[in-house]
Amino acid sequence: MGFQKMLIAVDDDPIAARAAEVGMDLARSLHAQVALIHAIDPSLTFAPDIGIGADEFALRAQQDGTRLMADLRARLPAGTQARQFISQGSPGSEIVKAAREWEADLIVIGSHGRHGITRALVGSVAEAVMREAPCPVLVVRAKE
Ligand code: AMP
Repeated sequence: MGFQKMLIAVDDDPIAARAAEVGMDLARSLHAQVALIHAIDPSLTFAPDIGIGADEFALRAQQDGTRLMADLRARLPAGTQARQFISQGSPGSEIVKAAREWEADLIVIGSHGRHGITRALVGSVAEAVMREAPCPVLVVRAKE
């Protein structure tokens, strides 16, 4: 099986940046297309206690996602094309949905996200993706 379309799932944690680095290296060596996806989780986008409204919070989440993508894309070698998807919804479902729609043949994901490293082998987003993915999943751990 040739891997020609790689979907890399990113949040703002260093492990996801590492996953992006590994995915992009692999894509380069296989001459594969790359797309980055970041999902804005609605359950995390409202925090009335910090004194800003839901709309403002959602807007900031969108801006953070756009900045995150721009930072990662800036690390790609000049001339490398990478699509980007920013969607609203539960990250696991959004990643799986994008993989189906874009017809990815590999999903690259970090083992853990910004919820921190727990005793679980993988985080909840990674686990949801591994359960539902329509294609193989490459799970990347932090550098030792
Ligand atoms: P978690 O399961 O939350 O510990 O995160 C594991 C990995 O899932 C991260 O390293 C990212 O690759 C990916 N991920 C987590 N949250 C998101 C998100 N909101 N959007 C896209 N990918 C995510």
